[in-house]
Amino acid sequence: MIKIIKNAKVYAPEYMGVQDVLIIGDKIAAVDKDIEVSVNKGLEITVIDGKGKLLLPGFIDSHVHILGGGGEGSFKTRTPEIKLTDITNGGVTTVVGCLGTDGISRDMVGLLAKARGLEEEGITTYIYTGSYRIPVVTITGEVMKDIITIDKIIGVGEIAISDHRSSQPNIEEFKRLAADARVAGMLSGKAGVLNIHLGDGKRKLNMLFEVLETTEIPITQFIPTHTNRNPYLFEDAIKFAKAGGCIDFTTSSDPVFWEGEDAEIKTSRALKRCLEEGVSEDLITFSSDGQGSLPVFNKDKEFIGLGVGKVESLYQEIRDCVLDEKIPLEKAIKTITSNPAAILKLKNKGRIKKGFDGDLVLVDENSLIIDTVIAKGKIMIENKTIKCYGTFEKA
Ligand code: ZN
Repeated sequence: MIKIIKNAKVYAPEYMGVQDVLIIGDKIAAVDKDIEVSVNKGLEITVIDGKGKLLLPGFIDSHVHILGGGGEGSFKTRTPEIKLTDITNGGVTTVVGCLGTDGISRDMVGLLAKARGLEEEGITTYIYTGSYRIPVVTITGEVMKDIITIDKIIGVGEIAISDHRSSQPNIEEFKRLAADARVAGMLSGKAGVLNIHLGDGKRKLNMLFEVLETTEIPITQFIPTHTNRNPYLFEDAIKFAKAGGCIDFTTSSDPVFWEGEDAEIKTSRALKRCLEEGVSEDLITFSSDGQGSLPVFNKDKEFIGLGVGKVESLYQEIRDCVLDEKIPLEKAIKTITSNPAAILKLKNKGRIKKGFDGDLVLVDENSLIIDTVIAKGKIMIENKTIKCYGTFEKA
């Protein structure tokens, strides 16, 4: 019920020095020096020693195929549903689930049920309504009704453009969808954003730029993702961010694609490059694309089978940002904490602050390896040991 994390160096994500953090129930009750709490008998206080450790806000992964994804290589290539510890092992305490290519054999009701299940198991979940396609698959029959009436639905996505697997939407239907999502978001106090899957197509972000030129819809309505998948798209994404739009980089990747002319931009390098270019550090987010299918290749780039995207890759890229690219931790960590919380209007998320949710991650000071994960005040991982398993996971 009551927990105190003592003597950790706190990144809120701004660096706050050594602080104690008091958690009561599922909320952060205080962040201060030398917190002492005395209680009557029968009430237990758990003290967690944070000495030699850094305390970070729980991570937000804003694009995860929680119900499974893939399927583009026939039925046997549909990826399995995610398990609780696939998420918490990566320090993630909030996920946004989405469908993907397949909105037929998997549907929105299934996605909502999966999100509710993960919430019951202890983390926080939201979902996007829709799949790759326009017209969008929904629960209520209308995008606006979904966003307004279903608490977990915060926007639309992932809608595919510039991809051979997209529904090749025309610009007018794309504009209408953005407008509906925007107004529904306004009416329900939600972000109402469009999460846009970018493929390898040469049209890149053209469709988004055209909507911005020919309508009143603001650039903040769109979150293009996978924008680090090739150098041309990445350059377009920088242009989009410099115009005030947010851009999302995907962390699940195969290292064989990080070299060569058409190479993917490794997420940690993409952040470094954006900061050098003067892109606002508030406009960049990372997401894992976790549980999506991930083709695996050998070192000669020959296809050798299918893997599954990992939520754990999200924080691995943060470590690489700090340890390899020498980006300050407080800047790197924003991409998976305060930035997605602000862009997606997730209330009480993404910060270590009084009144915010008790979502916290303790990491070792030098190696930055995850030690302890707390979600809504509940210990999921402690001293690198899983304390809380999903319903059908083996303890
Ligand atoms: Zn995608």
